Amino acid sequence: MTDLHRLSIRELSEGLSSATFSSRELTQHYLDRIAKLDNKVNAYVTVANEYALAQADAADAARQAGNAGSLTGIPLAHKDIFCTQGLKTSAGSKMLDNFIAPYNATVVEKTNAAGLVTLGKVNMDEFAMGSATENSYYGATKNPWNLNHVSGGSSGGSAAAVAADLAPFATGTDTGGSIRQPASFCGLTGLKPTYGRVSRFGIIAYASSLDQAGPMARSAEDCAYLMNVMAGHDAKDSTSVNKEVDNYVANLNATALKGLRIGIPKQYFNVAGLDAEVKARVEESLKKLQEMGAVLVEIDLNMTESYVPTYYLIAPAEASSNLSRYDGVRYGYRCENPADLMDLYKRSRSEGFGTEVQRRILIGTYALSAGYYDAYYVKAQKVRRLIQQDFLNAFENVDVIAAPSAPTTAYKLGADLSPVEIYLGDIYTLAVNLAGLPAINAPVGFDSNNLPVGLQLIGNYWSESQLLSVVHQYQQHTNFHTQRAAIAEEKA
Ligand code: GLN
Repeated sequence: MTDLHRLSIRELSEGLSSATFSSRELTQHYLDRIAKLDNKVNAYVTVANEYALAQADAADAARQAGNAGSLTGIPLAHKDIFCTQGLKTSAGSKMLDNFIAPYNATVVEKTNAAGLVTLGKVNMDEFAMGSATENSYYGATKNPWNLNHVSGGSSGGSAAAVAADLAPFATGTDTGGSIRQPASFCGLTGLKPTYGRVSRFGIIAYASSLDQAGPMARSAEDCAYLMNVMAGHDAKDSTSVNKEVDNYVANLNATALKGLRIGIPKQYFNVAGLDAEVKARVEESLKKLQEMGAVLVEIDLNMTESYVPTYYLIAPAEASSNLSRYDGVRYGYRCENPADLMDLYKRSRSEGFGTEVQRRILIGTYALSAGYYDAYYVKAQKVRRLIQQDFLNAFENVDVIAAPSAPTTAYKLGADLSPVEIYLGDIYTLAVNLAGLPAINAPVGFDSNNLPVGLQLIGNYWSESQLLSVVHQYQQHTNFHTQRAAIAEEKA
């Protein structure tokens, strides 16, 4: 049973229910791989050996007692932004390096209730601010396809863990692309749901009007299994929506590709920084979808140039407010020997937060300050509405919208990019969060350095089933999602 890490979620479910292997064997197999290989990738901040084995034993016992669900006993990794009772939740920050939450995030409650086994907590950009996981207090996560390249961010640990076969699937969060872009960089399928579909309760807040959690996995089918667990209304999150949840697995073939209208935004394919190979692979994937029956329709999304400035005002503004709670008093990092209260605040925050987080707190505080509030924050909110309207207009005429997930493939670790250069790399993902829409990344090939390229499909509100279904059908006719990075082939 050396190849348990090659099995899909459906195969794992079948193997567990036929007692071909136990959850303990499966969990131990993954823990062994993590112990042997994670030092190369740095996906995990915390490996939860005992916690995982205890959950695995409970899963095996439940199965023996006839109380198993379809996912009981299957392991997963949680992004280190989901609060886990009894396990450290760092959000990639020195500020929370000593933080053990006294409760579980709703998503964690749900994965526990489904019998899923938590292998550990995976790396991320500090407070989810970044696009490469290079902003983590715990060091960068490396791309399993090439260990000299970034994994993407902020859910880079989730992406790398799955791409290196150090977890069968993982949770992520996406405020401006943090599920889709690392999925793209690591050759995975990742779904950012409609805002309000998944509870934010117990997820360390970055920008609350944009934050949303979703699944990251090797295929649309695997994502659908995890989405079935994650989605749903939660009275503890007032922005979660009380709307019936689809059965995403049952719906995997439900969307007809024949006649599906896919919008191709002209403006997206003329972005200056769009890499020629990325463009070529994305266009090939669209051609494939066309062969499968889809109709490609050129559309306009005229607000494209406003995405980056609008997001990089609103997200820091909300972050500056959310992060004001880290004051060194009740929990989190506290500086040594404070001279007085002001000194305690100042030094705890300057020593506990990294550079990018401090930059965003400064930008956000400035944008919200009296005198600049109208010129920056209010203006950005108005533009946000126009961006949403642009999508609503487009969806009058098309079913989904296609785009690259990122203008490039994974770049080199330590590439000395300026903040603005990094922000511009988010051009294709930010608008989806500003509008609250769902979107998915699917792997659609490789560049000449063998680094994965991702296609993004953006859907109308609540169209998660449709997005998963389109990608699932594409994956029945292509094998990009079954390719593995060399490190995933290594034996533990
Ligand atoms: N790269 C974007 C940022 O740095 C998005 C991050 C995210 O989605 N959490 O804000």
